[in-house]
Amino acid sequence: MINLREISQKFNIEEEFGVYENAEMSRRFSFKVGGKTPLLIEPLTEDALLKALNILEAEKIPYFILGGGTNIVFSDNGFDGVVISAVKLNRIEQLAADGDDVILKCQCGVLMNTLVNYAVKNSLTGLEEFCGLPGTCGGAGYMNARCFNKEISDVVGTITYFDKNSSKNDASGGIFEKKTLSYDKSLWQYKISPFTGTDKVIVSVEFRVRKTSDSSIQQKASEFMKERVEKGHFKFPCAGSVFKNNHAFGKPTGKIVDELGLKGHSIGGAQIAPWHGNIIINRENATSKDIKELVEFVKEQVKEKTGFELEEEILFY
Ligand SMILES: Cc1cc2nc3c(=O)[nH]c(=O)nc-3n(C[C@H](O)[C@H](O)[C@H](O)COP(=O)(O)OP(=O)(O)OC[C@H]3O[C@@H](n4cnc5c(N)ncnc54)[C@H](O)[C@@H]3O)c2cc1C
Repeated sequence: MINLREISQKFNIEEEFGVYENAEMSRRFSFKVGGKTPLLIEPLTEDALLKALNILEAEKIPYFILGGGTNIVFSDNGFDGVVISAVKLNRIEQLAADGDDVILKCQCGVLMNTLVNYAVKNSLTGLEEFCGLPGTCGGAGYMNARCFNKEISDVVGTITYFDKNSSKNDASGGIFEKKTLSYDKSLWQYKISPFTGTDKVIVSVEFRVRKTSDSSIQQKASEFMKERVEKGHFKFPCAGSVFKNNHAFGKPTGKIVDELGLKGHSIGGAQIAPWHGNIIINRENATSKDIKELVEFVKEQVKEKTGFELEEEILFY
């Protein structure tokens, strides 16, 4: 257990952080599972986020960054450290660019759906496919989220992030500093960004959009949302696709699971969606253990019957 009182004091500064001790976390995850964390903080400014990272590094306290919690299965045992939530960093700025090109600079906690609505309202096109994508810009950047054949790497510009400066590393741990990364195609792959699996913290993401006089963009965005609803994305708590697709399999992972007759299979309160082989739902009071066991079950079945090795897209914390 971390020394809650001591560390909580360091964040007890009203203008800089929201602070929640012994926080129940399940409602912060789209799967609605998971235990408690001794300390949850919500930095209100980018400087506060930087301060938090530097304090926690210096104190050697484990932490992780939480976006919208829509791709995470959070442990029933909780997390013995500090969860840093990005939700209060939610400013969108419109930056001028050349001709009809516009840059939308979004702090990491801006919800993707809010961003799409903002763009459409301002007659800016390029993001409609992301309408209804749960989660934040930071999370989508980290995951290189992909919707209807468009991925974040297709629209991203410069990303601002905090990174440990190795030259300042000393006995008290690394010191974070602000850096920027311009878009470089070679650093992005299917569901992998330059941030995936690193401890870099995305502060803001720039999206490249274009001015348009085409008034149908609102309808286009609504149609993408409608398709999600029809696919049953929002019927039960879930985290979207559980497994990555893989061209080598010759068909979508959901179809493979479907063909093995696994749709509807349950372990505890977790169930493979009866309408989609690549979605696991929290049918009734599931635990993260139920979800983990069901994921392992599907992987074993698929390996045994087809030889394919599925790779999880959802993250276990
Ligand atoms: C109903 C439903 C439908 C979905 N549909 C899709 C879909 O069509 N396509 C798709 O790609 N995904 C989909 N998802 C999955 C999920 O929405 C995306 O992966 C989303 O981009 C995750 O964003 P988040 O903010 O919720 O990230 P979280 O789940 O909070 O975090 C995911 C990872 O990103 C890291 N992270 C978050 N913010 C930051 C930051 N600022 N800096 C560094 N790291 C950070 C976290 O530490 C974690 O490792 C769906 C999920 C649901 C529930």
